[in-house]
Amino acid sequence: MELTTTGSLLRELFARFAPIGALPGGGVTRLAYTEREDEMHACFRDAARDLGFRVWTDCVGNSYAAGFPEGTQDYTLIGSHLDSVIEGGEYDGVAGVLAGLAVLCELRERRIGTPVAVAAFRCEESSNFRVCTVGSGLVTGTLEDAVLRGASDRQGVPLLRHLECYGFDPHAALLRGCARYLELHIEQGRVLQERGCEIGVVSAIAAPHRFLLRLRGMAEHSGATPMSLRRDSLCAAAEAILAVERAGLSEAVNDSVATVGCVENRPNVMNAVPGETTLQIDLRGIREDSVVRMENAVRREVEALCARRGVGFTLDAVDVKHPVLLDEGLQKRLCAAAEALGLPHMVLPSGAGHDAMSFAELCPTGMVFIPCRDGVSHNVHEHTELSQIENGVRVLVRLLAAEQA
Ligand SMILES: [Zn+2]
Repeated sequence: MELTTTGSLLRELFARFAPIGALPGGGVTRLAYTEREDEMHACFRDAARDLGFRVWTDCVGNSYAAGFPEGTQDYTLIGSHLDSVIEGGEYDGVAGVLAGLAVLCELRERRIGTPVAVAAFRCEESSNFRVCTVGSGLVTGTLEDAVLRGASDRQGVPLLRHLECYGFDPHAALLRGCARYLELHIEQGRVLQERGCEIGVVSAIAAPHRFLLRLRGMAEHSGATPMSLRRDSLCAAAEAILAVERAGLSEAVNDSVATVGCVENRPNVMNAVPGETTLQIDLRGIREDSVVRMENAVRREVEALCARRGVGFTLDAVDVKHPVLLDEGLQKRLCAAAEALGLPHMVLPSGAGHDAMSFAELCPTGMVFIPCRDGVSHNVHEHTELSQIENGVRVLVRLLAAEQA
């Protein structure tokens, strides 16, 4: 397929980012606040500078680009993130940031003067610190201080320590002048593909409620401890995992989901009864009442099964975000833009969290989804056609142009 100017620009930009954190078998690992993410941001700033834009960073390491002069007020911010999960794909987040640069180029080309900046946020994924949307949360003041202070990386090093090492100041990062926020992102599901749509206009974002369930039994010799005397934390965990699944199934009618995605077990050897097991629980929905019902159901079941098994537990919230409704006016105008371009589109909720969540309460916020192949994401096989990203760019440009006219 022949690429348009925007298409070739996107191809060139993706090629610049491709080597960073690239895995031998395809895919990328670019964890938040690591050298890989630093390289992504340096690459973004270089690319934006090469394209002739002014670039800057804030005091938590987010990067920005814009054509307008410093101090400009009431601009539109187009953002997303440059970090990835472990063994993720190269489109999650990056597609939105690069689409932002493509929008800036297109607006300049067409002499559309509306002020637009592009943001590349830090630490959107929770893979490294178990909390999400850190960069955008800090600049909007929506990241709770307790969450910030409680976050630590996979080796137990506090997030605050990392920020300190960089010389960052998380308490001085508030963003100024932003009048509204737009984000393009791959759908990370297969609704658009199945409905034959090229554009999804997001109505609401299902926010995660995340919990750490620590189960404490007794680690003992697997040969010498009779079944009747055991306090096996892993068996308790097995029941808890199914309780989480049941909670999700019972709220599926409300589009809620419940997942245990991580199990840590000690001592995790074949010849010992497990004594301590930790589960990471992720509950999501676009209706708060539904998420709270899941949470209560899980707590009730865990209490009962732990009492029955003589296993102690703590169930602690590590990150609780609230479902977010996106601006209705923007939804309508984004649909109109897609319509005018002849792009099949639909309105849909987002099951995944995004940086847009950090902005929705502060200013009108809109999101555009583009399809990703078979809905595969957070996976090395994640794929989106450049032409599909370009469709998203055209919708954003159309929206901005229509407002100028
Ligand atoms: Zn993402």
